[in-house]
Amino acid sequence: MAGQHPEQDPGRDTRLWHPFAQMSVTRSAEFVVERGKDVWIWDTDGNRYLDATASLWYSNIGHGRPEIREAVTAQMAKLEAYSVFNDIANPPALELASRLADLAPDASPRILLGSGGGDGIDTAAKLVRRYWHECGKPERSHLITRRHGYHGTHGFGTSLAGIPANRIDLGPLIEQVSIVDFESVDALGAEIESLGAENVAAFFCEPVIGAGGVYPPPDGYMEGIAEVCRETGVLLVIDAVICGFGRLGTWFGVERWPGVDPDMIVFAKGVTSGYLPLGGVVVSERVAAPFWENVASAPFRHGATYAGHPASCAAALANLDILENEGLIARGMEMERPLFDALAPLTENPLVSEVRGGTGLMAAVALEPRLLELLPDAPMRLCHAARRNGVLVRPLGAGVATSPPLTVQSEHLELLAESLSTALGELRSDADTAGYEPSAQEPEVNG
Ligand code: PMP
Repeated sequence: MAGQHPEQDPGRDTRLWHPFAQMSVTRSAEFVVERGKDVWIWDTDGNRYLDATASLWYSNIGHGRPEIREAVTAQMAKLEAYSVFNDIANPPALELASRLADLAPDASPRILLGSGGGDGIDTAAKLVRRYWHECGKPERSHLITRRHGYHGTHGFGTSLAGIPANRIDLGPLIEQVSIVDFESVDALGAEIESLGAENVAAFFCEPVIGAGGVYPPPDGYMEGIAEVCRETGVLLVIDAVICGFGRLGTWFGVERWPGVDPDMIVFAKGVTSGYLPLGGVVVSERVAAPFWENVASAPFRHGATYAGHPASCAAALANLDILENEGLIARGMEMERPLFDALAPLTENPLVSEVRGGTGLMAAVALEPRLLELLPDAPMRLCHAARRNGVLVRPLGAGVATSPPLTVQSEHLELLAESLSTALGELRSDADTAGYEPSAQEPEVNG
């Protein structure tokens, strides 16, 4: 049984500025994780927790695998780091690019490597605009994204954010970006028509929206948007940062919808299971062609210092071995129903408005809107209560998300459901104090 979440300790004052955190609170109330093994992590007081979020959606193989440590150590003993700018390469970067190209759905893609997901999104956004420029259609520069979509916090990713809170108070963002409804093929078609297809560069799409709330695509949505993109010539950029490397039960997530052929796939997270930072973009042969075939084309003047970092690539290669040899990729699909079924009964709780999931090993428990009005920090309170009950889940705008490692077993899912149920009971006391009255309506189960 886990210990108490550290209460605010005014005597402590961290120097670490935490991403997305309300630092006026967090400055004296950090939760310090010390070690991990498979689906478990331990805090500095020795308390054990189920990591039901795979850290930030990435620990696909689970924590603490010695094979990755050994591969990275061996690589570091040979060459710890070297850039791949211009004509320079290193063996792990070459091997990783070739292996990812073989695994990707496109027949003969090229691979750009970088440091993470947001980095990959900015690479893809710049590349779609450069591509159209090379094709003699520079006016094709408009980018389209979906409501609730999350594409990282770099410049383009922030501009493509479908979560309003992530784009406000930052001054002017990148121009020529539209946000369309997240589950309507017609909305995409109508936006392209109103802008004029000849002005639209690309549509950015997470197959299952992750950080924006875990929204699986409605039936026919992925096929529909792919068809609209094909008919209008708009490039389809799949953001597989969460959905890739087994989370949806396939290598890049998008293979779940046969006939959906992306022009680019952005990946990160599960490619190394987070053991070292790495991300990148799978670029289809067609989009790469102007740069690879045409001597008159200027180079794509883009790339991060740590692109092709040999130690990160070695971690990725060892991670791909584990995913492949232990049959973990398929588990994203095998375990999606058990996860959803474990959580679905929570809809009987009067604080819960909806449980979403069922496509891939990820789910969300959404809280009642009226509760969120009374207690806007209810998702965070629920996470803290779950943590007091030995399980880590992640706060979303309107609920909590779970995305356990692919190694998760049924008994872990039972523990997750039990802890969330107890945590909801604790949240109920806060809700009652705040004057919350449950609604008479039936909650939705949406899987
Ligand atoms: N795209 C998606 C779908 C993501 O979930 C994330 C991160 N959660 C990103 C992009 C950004 O990745 P990173 O944090 O590595 O920059």
